[in-house]
Amino acid sequence: MCADARVHEIAPRSGVAFTLDAGDRLIVIDPRGEQVADLLAFNRHDLDEVISSGRTLDYASRIYLTTGDPLYSNRSNVLLRIVEDTVGRHDFLLTPCSADTFRIICGDADPHRGCFGNLAHALAPYGVALDRIPVAFNCFMNVPVDGATGTFTVEPPLSRAGDRITFEAEADLLIGLTACSALQSNNGSFKPIHYRIERAREAGRDSNDRSRSDAGRNASASGA
Ligand SMILES: [Zn+2]
Repeated sequence: MCADARVHEIAPRSGVAFTLDAGDRLIVIDPRGEQVADLLAFNRHDLDEVISSGRTLDYASRIYLTTGDPLYSNRSNVLLRIVEDTVGRHDFLLTPCSADTFRIICGDADPHRGCFGNLAHALAPYGVALDRIPVAFNCFMNVPVDGATGTFTVEPPLSRAGDRITFEAEADLLIGLTACSALQSNNGSFKPIHYRIERAREAGRDSNDRSRSDAGRNASASGA
């Protein structure tokens, strides 16, 4: 049970899907600390448009994103923007954990379906097929990289109980969100994730204010 009726809980090792309208805000909360949440966003009106790790990191020239940073789509439109972040360490490099992850990396004989399977299950009713699931934005996931060798490790999240990251939708979106299922990503235990949706209309934000989005669309950057 969540004390705040507006807060939804994602049970450990599970996932959900829901929609946002442009201007809505999504607050992803780590209620107990050290728990990752994988986030996907699709253009609700055209599911071929989806968040793109490659484009977002290319345009940011950084792999660690935080307040103010946009999440671009495969068509270089801004789908989400980070508007608040109490942690400052998230991952946008690694694929959602999956049965394959647990089989290949951990040697599990009967692997859990992971965030990938949970996202696929939650998004299927909206018409999202398995092969459309890209690299997710992994809220609170802590993946330090050795700058010289490129070697990375998956370390315990830096998030503490009550930490959160807030996104503002800059398009009408279909969202997938999980409480991550990988032991290593979550410092050895599976915990819930909380989220809250702040509707633009209720918050008094003008949904016609797309100036930042337009600025994002006009941004130019060199391709990799
Ligand atoms: Zn996961």
